Amino acid sequence: MLALAVLVGLAGSLGYRYSYDNALTHQGERGQVQLHLYGQALSSELARYDYVPSLLSLDDKIAALLAHPEDRARVEAANQYLAALNARAGTRTIYVLNASGRVLATSNWQRPDSYMGEDLLFRPYFADAMEGQLGRFYGVGTTRSEAGYYLSAPLGDRNKPGGVAVVKVGLEPLENRWQGADTQMLLTDENGVVILASDPSLKLTTLKPLAPELRERLLRNLQYNRAPLPQLELTTVRKLSDSDTLVRLRRGPPMLAQNAELVGTDWHLTLLTNTSQARVAALNTAALAGVLTAFLLLLAAAWNVRRRIASERLAARAALEAANGELERKVAERTADLSAANQQLQAEIGERIRAEATLRQAQDGLLQAGKLAAVGQMSTGIAHELNQPLAALRTLSGNTQKFLARGDNATAQANLGTIIGLVERMGRITGALKSFARKPGNGSRTAPLDDALDNALFLLDTRLQEVRPELVRQIDPGLVVACDPNRLEQVLVNLIGNALDALSGSTGPRLELRTHLTGGNVRLTIRDSGPGLSEEAFARLFEPFFTTKPTGQGLGLGLTLSAGILDEIGGSLDASNHPDGGACFTLALPLARQETEKVNGHGA
Ligand code: ADP
Repeated sequence: MLALAVLVGLAGSLGYRYSYDNALTHQGERGQVQLHLYGQALSSELARYDYVPSLLSLDDKIAALLAHPEDRARVEAANQYLAALNARAGTRTIYVLNASGRVLATSNWQRPDSYMGEDLLFRPYFADAMEGQLGRFYGVGTTRSEAGYYLSAPLGDRNKPGGVAVVKVGLEPLENRWQGADTQMLLTDENGVVILASDPSLKLTTLKPLAPELRERLLRNLQYNRAPLPQLELTTVRKLSDSDTLVRLRRGPPMLAQNAELVGTDWHLTLLTNTSQARVAALNTAALAGVLTAFLLLLAAAWNVRRRIASERLAARAALEAANGELERKVAERTADLSAANQQLQAEIGERIRAEATLRQAQDGLLQAGKLAAVGQMSTGIAHELNQPLAALRTLSGNTQKFLARGDNATAQANLGTIIGLVERMGRITGALKSFARKPGNGSRTAPLDDALDNALFLLDTRLQEVRPELVRQIDPGLVVACDPNRLEQVLVNLIGNALDALSGSTGPRLELRTHLTGGNVRLTIRDSGPGLSEEAFARLFEPFFTTKPTGQGLGLGLTLSAGILDEIGGSLDASNHPDGGACFTLALPLARQETEKVNGHGA
């Protein structure tokens, strides 16, 4: 801002200086023209009277006067002639001096302050004329202190003049023509004294200091009639050219001073013109230059700011692009990582699926093994079960042969009926065994609970016959659970089998089977009156291969597999000891969908 202000100030001052000088030059040119015109006017005005004194040397009356200065008639005639001439020529006074400088005749002879008889030897114009030259002189009259222009010419022989003719001209009309508002016109004579001025107060001042000897001489010849001749207070401000100077008049505003010689004289014309217009123009130019510079500088500043913003924007864009590139690179890296992780995950999922399949296979294998183990356990009973009807069949068929031989067809028929019943019973046993040992396929996903219990009890019939427990069966009729029937049977055979194992050898054995509906589940409790679960058995109940039974009787897989099956269908298996003694196993079984609706319907 400071630099801006300095530049604006500099431009303003340069503009001021340039415009001021320019205006002054123009003003100077105008002044020169004006000066020239005034000079010419003044010269011609003065020249108008040049002939008057010379004219007198041709006149007889004047010659006669010079020849007989004491003759009163001649003096009278000369005086009248001079007065007439003075009136005609429009001059102030015309008079004639003799060779010793005394006034012999004058146009103002009638006035009381007439020059008649005055001694004007001391006047320089007298001396000039006596030397045979035309005298020119500006002076202040000694009698009336009236300033005027004196012209003198020798009378008679040029080399030895008999007298001098003098004309005094008033220059006031010229002065009056110079009155101008903005200008001051000064006419200085050979002594540097202002003899004419548009401002009367400047008259009879000097432009240069007067040398003491000159001042003394002036006092002697009374050229200015003892006027004090003070020096005009004119200080030079600046010199513009040889003829033009910038000055201050009486500490006023600067004025343009121009000088010109008045042709044919030792006089100088000085023109002082007011420079206020030039200053106003210069101020205007300075203001314009300042404003223009400020505008240009602001424009430059704005352009600079704009350029900076543009470059910043470019930089920001580049940074953004770089950031974008980096982001893209990171995204690509992350994507690669992710896809690698994804692939790994896929691989892991595949692995898991394979492992699951393997597990399922193993589980299925284990289930099958568990079933076969149960079948193995049941095999003694089944063999016994089959042996009885087989023995009966052998006896019956032997008897039937004998009855047929005897022709007792009726008895044979009855025997055959019994045989068919026995065979059907055996077929049922093997059928149940076959269906139990069968691997679960894609068969039914629902099983009626009653049927599953019937099948399980039928398979364990031999054991039931052995233990002979009091069987309490409180099962809600028509319940269908969402489970493969084969697997449900396997669970029931395991749990009821365990209960029968626990009951064997106990007094008053009792086996309770009860159902209890809760929401979409049916809870089936299998309770025995055996010794209950030992502490160790409780802790390790669902551990594979945990058994307390002698080798060959238990594998320790029954509960593990049962819990696994129930877990798979969304049910559960819990074990507890009943407060009244004996173990109690509770199965939570999800009901089949239609069953749930039915149960809910009943409930409503
Ligand atoms: P296993 O019957 O082949 O021994 P299980 O897994 O079916 O295998 O049973 C594990 C053990 O749990 C049994 O050996 C037994 O000690 C105990 N147990 C199971 N059911 C009962 C029961 N109802 N009463 C007492 N103990 C039981």
